Amino acid sequence: MATEPAPVTQNAAAVPAPAPWEDPPVAEAYGRLEEIVRATRPSGDLSALRKAFEKAAFWHRNRTRATGEPYILHPIAAAEILAGEQMDLVCLISALLHDVVEDEEVPVDEIRRLFGEEISRVVDGVTKLGKLKMASREERQAESVRKMLLAMTSDIRVIIVKLADRMHNLQTLEALPAERRQRIAHETLEIYVPIAHRLGMGRIRAQLEDLSFKYGEPEGCQEILQQLESRRQANQDYLQLIKHNVEQKLSRERIPVRVEGRLKRPYSIWQKMKRQHIAMDQVYDLLAIRIITDSVKNCYAALGVIHNEWHPIMGRIKDFIAIPRPNLYQSLHTSVIGPEGHSFEVQIRTEEMHRVAEEGIAAHWKYKEGRKGHEDEDQRIAWLRHLVEWQQEMREPQAFMSTLKVELYSEEVYCFTPKGKVIVLPRDACPIDFAYAIHSDVGAACVGAKVNGRIVPLKYQLRNGDVVEILTQPSHQPSKDWLALVKTSRARNKIRHVINATERAKAIEIGEKYLEKEARRLGVQLSRISKAQLEQVAGEYGHAKIEDLYAALGFGRFSARHVLHKVAPEIVPETAETPKVAASAPVTLPPGAPGSDLIVKVKGIDDVLVYRAKCCNPIRGESIVGYVTRGKGIAVHSTNCKNVQSLLYEPERKIDVEWARATSDSFPVKMMVYTDDRPGMLHEITSVFYNESSNIRSVEARGDQHRNDDSAIIDLTVEVRDKKQLEKILSAIRRISGVRDVERVQ
Ligand code: MN
Repeated sequence: MATEPAPVTQNAAAVPAPAPWEDPPVAEAYGRLEEIVRATRPSGDLSALRKAFEKAAFWHRNRTRATGEPYILHPIAAAEILAGEQMDLVCLISALLHDVVEDEEVPVDEIRRLFGEEISRVVDGVTKLGKLKMASREERQAESVRKMLLAMTSDIRVIIVKLADRMHNLQTLEALPAERRQRIAHETLEIYVPIAHRLGMGRIRAQLEDLSFKYGEPEGCQEILQQLESRRQANQDYLQLIKHNVEQKLSRERIPVRVEGRLKRPYSIWQKMKRQHIAMDQVYDLLAIRIITDSVKNCYAALGVIHNEWHPIMGRIKDFIAIPRPNLYQSLHTSVIGPEGHSFEVQIRTEEMHRVAEEGIAAHWKYKEGRKGHEDEDQRIAWLRHLVEWQQEMREPQAFMSTLKVELYSEEVYCFTPKGKVIVLPRDACPIDFAYAIHSDVGAACVGAKVNGRIVPLKYQLRNGDVVEILTQPSHQPSKDWLALVKTSRARNKIRHVINATERAKAIEIGEKYLEKEARRLGVQLSRISKAQLEQVAGEYGHAKIEDLYAALGFGRFSARHVLHKVAPEIVPETAETPKVAASAPVTLPPGAPGSDLIVKVKGIDDVLVYRAKCCNPIRGESIVGYVTRGKGIAVHSTNCKNVQSLLYEPERKIDVEWARATSDSFPVKMMVYTDDRPGMLHEITSVFYNESSNIRSVEARGDQHRNDDSAIIDLTVEVRDKKQLEKILSAIRRISGVRDVERVQ
């Protein structure tokens, strides 16, 4: 952690060693920066700039660059690049401070305290961008990263500072080993050059591109430069000829113009030659002239003159004045066949359009003498709006005009794998979505996730820039609860698929055992029944395979008895079944069958075989849990049943169940009443049930063997609707005089 720098007011006599900002090369570099700033704002207050410089110099005092120079020269150079673009003080100060959080661990709060909210936000943004890993050669990947950079950037100045940072790094790339040089150069070409282009910052873009091309594709660059060099004179002469010609023709038409001859950028030439497999001669826009005039009207007039003089190439006329590019670029473009049959490109624009083309979005953060920044706010918003649409560039040129979205890419989040691959997900996506985006096997086996090195719950909502590591366990199966968390249809479909398959497997197992059990009960020897016979029955139910028949039985679509009747009609007569929960549990209940009411329902499954477990015999209203038994369907236990705890050693057999809406079913409950043995007691007890319309299935009174007094025990099996009714009955019995206690028997 950095400590406070010495006070700015100097006391040279008391401090023998010079302060970090007094080191001659450092002071000189800063002096140059101030000079550039002064040139455009002679009366401006630069005390904040100076303060940022001194603080940054102090914080970086123990660091040197790869070149061995004091580190502070780098932020000063970045600020100088921005000063040359006449950027505002927030940009310049942020550039001076851009590495102190990352490299010197100066807290962002400290920046905020010293330099205010705006600057701290920009510095924080630049720091965050620096932490991203962006190492990929894939074009789609690069596009995602570019989008992400903008999505993360509420203040475009973060990007502008980052571009200046990158520019200076490229300018001093020589000091780094070749491998790192190439990596940085490629990253610049893939990420930062297109961003500079999207932001319309033509000048910065051109410099970044030339430098990265030199280091990133040294051979290609050298070859292009050699070829250009070999025809330099010819190209120059040719451009001079056209330029002269154009100036003459346009002045005859009284169109005031400035004409610039230019060569296509080396990197663009190289890309085009590579992409189209052509020689440099065949690049039709290798040579170009730019005509800058005073009005839109004269742009079109000039175009007319050009087309009158030289034959235009079909399909090469583009009117970016009527339909500006999303980055607000405006110009007329055409390619024509010039003298000696050589083609060249012509760009025609006004001075204002030219300024926008060169500076782009940066123009709106420029320092303007005597003006405050707010006037440009509308323009800035217009910029952001256009950026939103950059993907539609050239495809739907009108669409961006109507959009009102200001937030950039808010519908998507961009996250990284630990290896730096970008995963694009919808907003609010969770780690499960991320896992499925990697691979469905990773998704299925996902048991947890680390985000930025920390364990997070699976419901965690991913944020831009999160580095996500998925924790897996090979045998793990997706859970139904995940369906409520995931945001991608890919994850949802895969989870559903697995759950359906698992449920089907369970149903097959249940169905087969159900059939065996019923066969035993009804005296049918299944072993005597051939596979072909069963297959035929399956066919009658519309199923191709026996497995399907079992599954249908397991899901309770029809009863085992029906099946047995079909295979052994002589043993199992056809009877109308009216299945109901009987007193003796376990009970296989074919739910969904006509006349039956579901009493317990498995969450998310319409019909499956369920019964209430004998051990705890839960009744409506109690908290319950399902357990897939081997062969008897799903046993429903009370959550606090002792057996459940021991059954849970196979958690995958646990299944969520809930009490289903039901009309008339009732639950048998056994109870014991301890009473004084007196006349009329039994009558008083039974009348409680009568009043509650609860049926008594059995009642038996006996003397208490453990006591020798006149006490008695009454055993009852009664039918109750639900927990509430049971409690009402129990308390009514307790109120009877002479009743000592009553308990439910499990
Ligand atoms: Mn830097």
